[in-house]
Amino acid sequence: MIIAKFGGTSVGDAEAIARTAGIVRARLPHAPVVVVSALAGTTNRLFEIGHQAAAGQLIVALSIVEELRASHFAAIGALGVGADVALVTDTGLLFDELAHLAEALSVLGDATPRSLDAVSSIGERLSAPIVVAALARIGVPAVFVDARLLMTTSDDFGRAEPRPDEIAIACRVHLLPLVREGKVPVLGGFIGATAQGVTTTLGRGGSDYSASLLGAAMEAEAIEIWTDVDGLLTADPRIVPAARLIEHIRFDEAAELASFGAKVLHPSTIAPAVRKGIPVFVFNSRRPDGTGTRITFDAPRRSVRAIAGKTKTVVVKVRSPRMLAAPGTMRAIFEVFERNRTSVDVVATSEVSVSVTVDDVQHLEAIVAQLSAFGDVSVERGRGIVALVGASLGESTASMARALTALGDLRLHMVSLSASGINLTLIVDAAAVPEAIRRLHAAFFEEAAE
Ligand code: ASP
Ligand code: MG
Repeated sequence: MIIAKFGGTSVGDAEAIARTAGIVRARLPHAPVVVVSALAGTTNRLFEIGHQAAAGQLIVALSIVEELRASHFAAIGALGVGADVALVTDTGLLFDELAHLAEALSVLGDATPRSLDAVSSIGERLSAPIVVAALARIGVPAVFVDARLLMTTSDDFGRAEPRPDEIAIACRVHLLPLVREGKVPVLGGFIGATAQGVTTTLGRGGSDYSASLLGAAMEAEAIEIWTDVDGLLTADPRIVPAARLIEHIRFDEAAELASFGAKVLHPSTIAPAVRKGIPVFVFNSRRPDGTGTRITFDAPRRSVRAIAGKTKTVVVKVRSPRMLAAPGTMRAIFEVFERNRTSVDVVATSEVSVSVTVDDVQHLEAIVAQLSAFGDVSVERGRGIVALVGASLGESTASMARALTALGDLRLHMVSLSASGINLTLIVDAAAVPEAIRRLHAAFFEEAAE
């Protein structure tokens, strides 16, 4: 049994849904359980409906409802499933429910997380039955399963905590029998319900998390995340056209890359499955024959798996000949960042100075003012971060030497090797980030390997 999850772009319109249906049919020998996102863009529009209605803009909200109704019925028509009376009726009812919710929110003049969950859940409640119909049309024995029956969560609306034990029991009761009968269950990701049956959501982008939770609950052989890119790459292809597909990557490496905005998938969302030893694959639904990327805990260790980078980094330096050596100073300095709810990315220290990088400059002024108590503070804007990620990087002096050599004349402002040795972080000028990534990529992936 496998879990096959299809993101918004894989169910974006009739063409994408038809392609997705074909992929699922090809997977029948693996007994797939299908998890789908809302049609691309729908969740954003649903949030707009909620906010507009609560702000008294009921007409605006209802016009978005009508726009979504039209696009969903267009997909139903183009898929050739418009004669499915139950689908058409149920879809219409969901839009009526949505319009009523909008009216209720406009009366209340307030959108609580709970009511926003009710509104935003509708995207996945709409998409799953449409995918079922598309599958049925090509002969796949698909059945719709309301995810809210399975995904029991806390009542932290907007970011509900799943209850894995209850989910596992519900999967045994509601999902396993269907799989055993050779059926293909299809359910919406992202949504759940409290034990009392109140609709919740797992937070934006939560469908990967749903897939991972179901995979763990069902002890699936694999979890497939179908998206619109070939998988994880050795670098951002917009910067490095020669970037290569990573066929196999460790979970911790993928997590490091995600912190650099590799937005293919957020590893924390697949943690429940990977922890159980279930491999997670990333595939491109536009090119279903590709190899994709396999994410496991135990991919062979490499010194450099990928190169990532980001700009808009700010370096904050505190220099103080006297105070830094005093016990407790470091803690006090970091407390300044904590008090100002700003997370620190990279840290380098010497006996008389400490340098940190931050991405979020919202509270920078207050931070600088409070740090002045410890010594001279300087702020360097316009920096960027380039990181080499690889599980055995820390053990490879040759790789580190090669990295620094590859940078050549690019000015280096800070260097940091993570304690786990998995991430060598180099702070350069923001403007130099693309060139640094290109040079490093050439050195590690394009020149003949030793
Ligand atoms: N549809 C939801 C969102 O856009 C969940 C997901 O796509 O993963 O956030
Ligand atoms: Mg999405």
